[in-house]
Amino acid sequence: MLRIQEAVSAAQTFELMKKMLGHLVPEAELMVKSEIAFEINRLKKEKKAVILGHNYMEPALYHSIPDHVGDSLGLSRISASTDAERIVFCGVRFMAETAKILNPGKMVLLPARVAGCSLASSITAEDVRRIKKAYPGVPVVTYINTYADVKAETDVCCTSSNAVSIVNQLESDTVICLPDEFLARNVARETGKRVLFPGDMIRNGEPSMVVWNGKCEVHEKFTVGDITAARAQFPDTVVVAHPECPPEVVEASDYSGSTTAMVDFVKHSDAKRFLLLTECSMSDNIAAENPGKEMLGMCSIRCPHMNEITLEDTLECLREDKYQIEIDEDIRVKAKKSLDRMLEMSA
Ligand code: SF4
Repeated sequence: MLRIQEAVSAAQTFELMKKMLGHLVPEAELMVKSEIAFEINRLKKEKKAVILGHNYMEPALYHSIPDHVGDSLGLSRISASTDAERIVFCGVRFMAETAKILNPGKMVLLPARVAGCSLASSITAEDVRRIKKAYPGVPVVTYINTYADVKAETDVCCTSSNAVSIVNQLESDTVICLPDEFLARNVARETGKRVLFPGDMIRNGEPSMVVWNGKCEVHEKFTVGDITAARAQFPDTVVVAHPECPPEVVEASDYSGSTTAMVDFVKHSDAKRFLLLTECSMSDNIAAENPGKEMLGMCSIRCPHMNEITLEDTLECLREDKYQIEIDEDIRVKAKKSLDRMLEMSA
């Protein structure tokens, strides 16, 4: 089937978008968005750009303009190997920074001026230096949801899909895992480590994980009560939670994994109804690709940062080459080492 990105006219873009999203998005909205999407796809070729789209983008954008979609790990891999002249990142700032760290010679564009993240802004490079000083020689594993200067202080980065494997590969009983407290707690449970906070003493011979108190402002809001209520209303619901959710929520769920793992899980499951505990756009994106499956999204809980990225802003971004990501070269080189190590350890 022809991809929306390959349509040769705005009218064809509209027809293809209607086929895929007609049951989710009103036609009047698709008329407007298909014209913008067609222009983006035309301009993208003219300017030799590649568009990367995170799984949390809204359905009309997600399905119409990215050349590649996925989670942070998948998109990092693509950023590292693209030969496009421009990389347009439809995601948040730390993701665009990651693309720039891996591709210093290319123009990396973010369609919004800020597009932050509560996790990335929860920790500074100075915080990491202080923790390293308190626990000399203990390896630092940092979630990819951080800014370049924090990555520069790190031994190895991780994503929600490879965090357990990376911690297990390190030859150290004690690991510092930053900045997402819930992800770290979930990883500590799976790797058999006791959770410590900065300042706590490491007990001799006891595998431990030093964590930080950063939280994703979306995933921290999900509760076990949400799961109980959904199961009471729809007993056949399969609950799928992102590892940034509180540990008790992950434990009460039927499956937990990165956004790409969640997409694959729903695709291959025989179940017909799912509750997705993650950014609500992803429920719509999965529903569009799996018409026979019902997604229960908790859409009162949204990521305001991901929602800053729109089709309109992406068109302006391509037209005017804005907003360009710049990173101090010294920081970039150090941050790249932690990303390269992650990519090597996840090969
Ligand atoms: S969903 Fe959470 S982790 Fe992802 S960008 Fe938004 S605040 Fe950050």
